[in-house]
Amino acid sequence: EVAEPIFAEDLERWQESVQRAIEQGVEHRIEMRITRKDGSIRWIEAIGNVIRDEQGTPVRMMGTAMDVTERKTAELSLHDSEAANSAFLQAIPDLIFRLDKNGVHKDYFIPEAEESFTRADKIIGSTVHELLPADVAALYVKSIQECLDHRATEIFEYSLQLENEELKDFEARMVPFGLNEVMVLVRNVTEHKQAEREREHLHEQLAQSQKMESIGRLAGGVAHDFNNLLQAILGNAELLRLKLSHDKKLRCHVEQILSTGQRSAELTRQLLAFARKQTVAPVHADLNELIERTLNMLRRLIGEHISVHWHPYPAPLPVLVDTAQMDQIVTNVMLNARDALGAIGNITVQTSIVEVGSDESAHADLTRGRYACLKITDDGEGMSESILERVFEPFFTTKKIGEGTGLGLAMVYGAVKQNRGEVAITSTQGKGTQVEINLPLQESVPASLSVTEPDIDHTDLTHEARVLVVEDEDAILSVIKDTLEHKGYQVVTAATPSEALAICRDNSARIDLVLTDVIMPEMNGEELVDRLRECRKDLKFIYMSGYPADVIAAKGLLNPGINFIHKPFNVRALTDIVQQCLQHENTGIT
Ligand code: ADP
Ligand code: MG
Repeated sequence: EVAEPIFAEDLERWQESVQRAIEQGVEHRIEMRITRKDGSIRWIEAIGNVIRDEQGTPVRMMGTAMDVTERKTAELSLHDSEAANSAFLQAIPDLIFRLDKNGVHKDYFIPEAEESFTRADKIIGSTVHELLPADVAALYVKSIQECLDHRATEIFEYSLQLENEELKDFEARMVPFGLNEVMVLVRNVTEHKQAEREREHLHEQLAQSQKMESIGRLAGGVAHDFNNLLQAILGNAELLRLKLSHDKKLRCHVEQILSTGQRSAELTRQLLAFARKQTVAPVHADLNELIERTLNMLRRLIGEHISVHWHPYPAPLPVLVDTAQMDQIVTNVMLNARDALGAIGNITVQTSIVEVGSDESAHADLTRGRYACLKITDDGEGMSESILERVFEPFFTTKKIGEGTGLGLAMVYGAVKQNRGEVAITSTQGKGTQVEINLPLQESVPASLSVTEPDIDHTDLTHEARVLVVEDEDAILSVIKDTLEHKGYQVVTAATPSEALAICRDNSARIDLVLTDVIMPEMNGEELVDRLRECRKDLKFIYMSGYPADVIAAKGLLNPGINFIHKPFNVRALTDIVQQCLQHENTGIT
């Protein structure tokens, strides 16, 4: 079949090619367009050789013509587009090589590198086992097998640590090449992988904090209601104990109620802390001093077979924290370390200063600045990835029923956050665990606000003082009234703020101290105190709450020290704070 070009530009090339074939005796080869019988235009690749007679005179051309329309249009459309160029570049592998079925290199080529041939010399003939770490080599061997068995492309990924370089990620495409060989195209996908990992990490963090938020809200709500009930139970039990002082047998039962009630109260406190719903009263303190105090308390609980190594930062570390919360944080982490150690081991407690820059991804939750850092490390059993992922969840525990509540680290998480800090845990199974807590570093510790608690004089004074108790929960109101009356105070009660205002306005009722709930219908405790102080400037007051007043939280927490008591409280705590407040000249409004 004679195929003749139909376009002028093709014709010129065609004539040239035929001419060359005749004159120089070379093969005639050309891509050109022709018209088919049905009128359609096709691209063909024509290859031909000149046939000559005995004298060497060309007689005719013999050859083949192949329809290459599809390839040609694809090529042309790619040529057209700018984007195609970059796609081409991206598709070029960073490495191409040929392996036989035993994993021996037959060819090796680095498209971009000039020295690819010198390198290739060394590589050709060596096996994947000689060139790659065992796990990657094994992956290659397995893929060669699959690729040759199924005669299909194998795609796999692996990471490699090249000499003096960081870990890099590669993607390999392996295609069958002949019967016993494969061609491998490898691309360095490190940057791509890195971006992917960062995205995933962000997603996980977001999901994690959303989960914690919703569990927190749930837990916080339950804890609040439970706390009020506990207050009534514990208060009544305490009164019962006071009145039963002569009867040893009955007292024993009351003691039981009190001690289990106390444990329940501790649990609620942890839940509230996790939900960041615990009212906090932060004070300026030296972190070293706080930790030392807690550690001394814990010595007995930790046991002698475990060595506690304490390495404080050589200078005071001023922080602004709720000291009771700090106590709980350190205690929870230390007790976990103890549990992880079992019979024998070491716990290292260390404080330092860390500087957080603006771009540090290691401290995602922190703003830049200086932080006091507390590290508690144990060489205990450590934990697996899957446990580590869940440690902060409330009620997540791997301990036996009765041994763990799963609230320890949940509390730590909430409390550290509430103190504007961050907690991170790293662990290696079988090696140990490190808990790192960072708290914003303050300028200095004001001398007047040292953490030592004021001594309270417990000798019973004659109480002429009159206390107004404002509380909307009946059961709690009556318990407090009974308790204070038992201690000799005169008590007036009000179930609502308006009732309290009415009592105060009535001049015949001289009030020395107001003990008020924080969250109530009508107005909150703080507003109530403000209003009451309009008629009595020197009125003293104490807030009580098991829950954060949103107002208080928003306003930046309560005044530390003497005008706040956390529910549930016991007789001793209540009478202490009342007495202390009454003795104080100024109730500490700052
Ligand atoms: P609990 O101690 O009541 O189980 P936590 O919230 O304190 O609850 O801890 C949750 C879980 O985290 C523990 O059950 C344990 O599996 C794991 N864990 C915590 N601290 C450590 C540690 N230092 N070493 C090993 N595992 C730990
Ligand atoms: Mg624990």
